[in-house]
Amino acid sequence: MGEIICIANQKGGVGKTTTSINLAYALATLNRQVLLVDFDPQGNAGSGLGVTLGDADKSVYHLLTKTARFEDVVRQTANEMLDVLPACKNLAGAEVELVNVRGRENMLAEALNPLRPMYDFILIDCPPSLGLLTLNALMAADSVITPVQCEYYAMEGLAHFMTTIGKIKQFLNPRLKLDGGILTMYDARMNLSKQVFEEVSHFFGDKVYKTPIPRNIRLAEAPSFGQAIFDYDPACRGAAAYLDLAAEFLSRRGIDVSDYKEAAFTGPAAYNYDFGG
Ligand code: ATP
Ligand code: MG
Repeated sequence: MGEIICIANQKGGVGKTTTSINLAYALATLNRQVLLVDFDPQGNAGSGLGVTLGDADKSVYHLLTKTARFEDVVRQTANEMLDVLPACKNLAGAEVELVNVRGRENMLAEALNPLRPMYDFILIDCPPSLGLLTLNALMAADSVITPVQCEYYAMEGLAHFMTTIGKIKQFLNPRLKLDGGILTMYDARMNLSKQVFEEVSHFFGDKVYKTPIPRNIRLAEAPSFGQAIFDYDPACRGAAAYLDLAAEFLSRRGIDVSDYKEAAFTGPAAYNYDFGG
């Protein structure tokens, strides 16, 4: 049965979408069947994978409001092991439209639970807020991953966010567990990055991912070409880091990935990695 993982931080621009896209794609490269749910009305996770919506096309909004079937919303990506449920602007209105609907916080869980047998992992890219959309994602999820940007204000709001997750677990979704924190936009040349890494490691304890994601211009460029980093520049440091992250993610779940670099060579997408640099 597929695990549902929510990629969330109420702070904007910390690397949630970049992590959602490239972690999902890396897991697919490592032979896992993955669904990425774009749950941000900005729609960056879908467009970053080359999925664009016409006016008549259905999105995760329609799945949420039971006005479309999964088959009519799901899209394939460049990797046959990765599907995506794209978002559209309507999703922004859902927060208001659903305000009087009973069970409004459980609508995403109801939409995703029947999909569990089809996937190993279902990742949800959340918007930068703690509104009804993020609440729906946290109600649907088994675990949460929080990207933290290596910057001066990294810790700001983090404790509050974790308290909120604790309350959701205590009162609303007892399944929910914190999978971990991921350091993003890490610059090994900067003392600040090292300081933040230490602070965040202290905060998350053994739940911090050992693989920081480097600041890498290729990761910022890839979405404008509608490509995951593994198609845009598979030899760059950003691609290597997200592959390492995916291996760490799997090994935390007891899945042996000791030969993952080999698997990435011979997997469905057969990428030609250069792990030298
Ligand atoms: P939002 O809160 O708006 O949804 P987000 O948390 O999803 O933002 P991203 O969109 O992933 O964050 O990243 C914010 C910006 O930083 C984007 O322009 C992205 O391309 C860039 N970025 C993300 N990660 C990296 C990285 N490791 N190196 C360089 N640029 C990055
Ligand atoms: Mg985003």
